[in-house]
Amino acid sequence: MIKSGFPAYRGDLRYHCLGCEKEYPGDELYYTCPECGSVFLLKDHNFPNLKEVSGEKWRALFDARAAGKITALRGIFRFYELIAPVFSEQDIVYLGEGNTPIIFASDRLRKNVGQNLAFKNDGQNPSASFKDRGMACAFSYLGRLVREKNWDQVVAICASTGDTSASAALYAAYADNRIKSVVLLPHGKVTSQQLSQPLGSGALVIELPGVFDDCMRVVEFLADNFKVALLNSKNAWRILGQESYAFEVAQWLDWDMQDTALFVPIGNAGNITAIMSGFLKLKDLGLITVLPRIFGVQSRHADPVFRYYQQKPEQRSFSPVQVSPSVAQAAMIGNPVSFPRVRDLACIYEKVQGRGTFNVVQVEEQAIIESMLLANQNGHITCTQGGECLAGLMRARELRLMDKNELAILDSTAHALKFSNFQEMYFSGSFPSGYDIVPKDEYVNSPKQILSEVEKERMSQEEFTRAAAEKVIRVLGLKSD
Ligand SMILES: *Cc1c(COP(=O)(O)O)cnc(C)c1O
Ligand SMILES: [Zn+2]
Repeated sequence: MIKSGFPAYRGDLRYHCLGCEKEYPGDELYYTCPECGSVFLLKDHNFPNLKEVSGEKWRALFDARAAGKITALRGIFRFYELIAPVFSEQDIVYLGEGNTPIIFASDRLRKNVGQNLAFKNDGQNPSASFKDRGMACAFSYLGRLVREKNWDQVVAICASTGDTSASAALYAAYADNRIKSVVLLPHGKVTSQQLSQPLGSGALVIELPGVFDDCMRVVEFLADNFKVALLNSKNAWRILGQESYAFEVAQWLDWDMQDTALFVPIGNAGNITAIMSGFLKLKDLGLITVLPRIFGVQSRHADPVFRYYQQKPEQRSFSPVQVSPSVAQAAMIGNPVSFPRVRDLACIYEKVQGRGTFNVVQVEEQAIIESMLLANQNGHITCTQGGECLAGLMRARELRLMDKNELAILDSTAHALKFSNFQEMYFSGSFPSGYDIVPKDEYVNSPKQILSEVEKERMSQEEFTRAAAEKVIRVLGLKSD
């Protein structure tokens, strides 16, 4: 079964309903169960056959592929057999996603936090967020459907807090021109960088008043009543692609997950679903022997999953929340679509590895933005959601949930540059009151202007150079030797 070259193994993937357990064939698009309305996960019915190969052989195969040169296997499909083993080599779309670096904190940051930690920079994906992992899989699937079924046109649609639309528009722009990209955004609730992405990729961008949850209800209505391809994480193919995050973490740590805790921001809860599902597969196949601990992190301004797990196990019931403004805007979601997936997987996760392996912590807005600033002032490139993870780690330490030997891997889900508007609001003290953020001098940084345009006009080039240099010397307190 294991040979070099493109894999020969093919899975038998079926949509598995988390509500009524009914299954549907994997060669058609389904988002929610026609029977009961619940969400799906895709299940490979040939997965038990993969267990005939030892964990050691799997590790060797994936390690060999990491050095391989087959384009289709360079990204998330390095882990082909574990992700969506139904594609042929030509089906696979690769735009450089996956294989993002894990960067260990400097001694200074580690001492400051009191814990060994590293960021996995998922902002180093092509559209600068982790969403590309799922999109690569969803578009490989969609492209194949269009070819096989000979569709003459298909509208690929999503609602977004910014990054799903950036990613969907990018992959659609690369794909078969029968696929047309349409994105629905909550007006004023995505950053200008995020808005520029689908516009630049040539997608049709539609803005609606309200928040993400409002846009999501509109695309759900469209997906239920018209023939459109939904690219939100209800689309179970996206979840499969996002599992690659877990596989990469395990591989980079040499398949040893002992004393490791992953921190993941929760918005629509697709990412944390995929990460738990991914680690469970690795454990099942013997690639790893223990599951890492998982910490979901939510802002107090958008915390429905945290609230659910705060209740006593036997009394838990889920209610959506009304969100308030959050700097972790990409996770500002009150009614996460993948919540039922999290509930199922967290339960399995704890059954396999014991209590305390799955946790959700809640953090303040002030802590989120200041954790991002702290990380970036120590050489990282984290977004506000990565800041949320660092705030979550500090919170977990406060609650004495961390062991001193544990390594914390924090998910920087996007690139810092996408969220520079929040940094700017902090530095200029211009946060609207709804954010509950008051800047502290120690974190603020701003450009210092030392000569005006008018002063420059009055000077010759030499005078200007000398005057400016003198100002810099004064600012820095430099002494000539
Ligand atoms: C989408 C997104 C999240 C939230 O992920 P979910 O899968 O919706 O929980 C967090 N951070 C960034 C940068 C995102 O784009
Ligand atoms: Zn069902």
